[in-house]
Amino acid sequence: MNKAKRKTVIAGNWKMNKTPVEAAQLIYDINQRISNIETKGCEIVACVPFVDIDAAVKAADGTRIKIGAENCHWAKSGAFTGEISADMLKACGVEYVIIGHSERRQYFGETDLTVNQRLHAALEAGLTVILCVGELLEQREQGITEEIVSMQTKIALLNVTEEQMKNVVIAYEPVWAIGTGKTATSEQADEVCGIIRNVLAKLYSKKTAEATSILYGGSMNAKNAKELLSMENVDGGLIGGASLKAEDFSIIIEAAQ
Ligand code: PEP
Repeated sequence: MNKAKRKTVIAGNWKMNKTPVEAAQLIYDINQRISNIETKGCEIVACVPFVDIDAAVKAADGTRIKIGAENCHWAKSGAFTGEISADMLKACGVEYVIIGHSERRQYFGETDLTVNQRLHAALEAGLTVILCVGELLEQREQGITEEIVSMQTKIALLNVTEEQMKNVVIAYEPVWAIGTGKTATSEQADEVCGIIRNVLAKLYSKKTAEATSILYGGSMNAKNAKELLSMENVDGGLIGGASLKAEDFSIIIEAAQ
């Protein structure tokens, strides 16, 4: 299967930005800007803070924009003060959820094992997962990017069936490129997305490896998106900062066509 047959996904990660009113406005603005763009075969997703979900789902109703969350808990319900379950997200109209973002790993004690647990909960609830993996700068400099990214991918996907992989998208996000303005070169992005695809081929099959969308994330913007998205193994983008500007986000969506 070649790249053209895989689903392209352009997903925004809004992080801890926007009130519900601002969220609705941003969805409206993005929709206005993409109204003349052909987006067949491209999933457009906005992953928003929990409190914005209701407003974002309503604003996105009848548009091509799908709403995602930025995390979910691994349990179905229970004594986990302050947490949100995958079932709750599903009931609110959420379709996608980011799992294992490096900011969760860095600041909130996320481990490969909890990533795996959350991923199972999300899949069981019927959500599509955007699984984030990526190396730190020191790890790249030590030459262990392949080992780190392979290990993160394998542990995250422990006991995930080949059938369930239809609802998993992987985002390669080198930690040194997130929110820093430093982008991986298109060759670096393509190389590591290719490494992840090889891991999937070994874990599952060539068919699943070739059918799974693998995104690049890390300072993707309106200027560099076209080149990154043209690479054979890069099937879309997970975009932080630039997803908060309707104009930039819509240019990236256009670049993916
Ligand atoms: C992200 O948060 O996933 C991300 C890629 O951020 P940025 O685009 O701002 O680097």
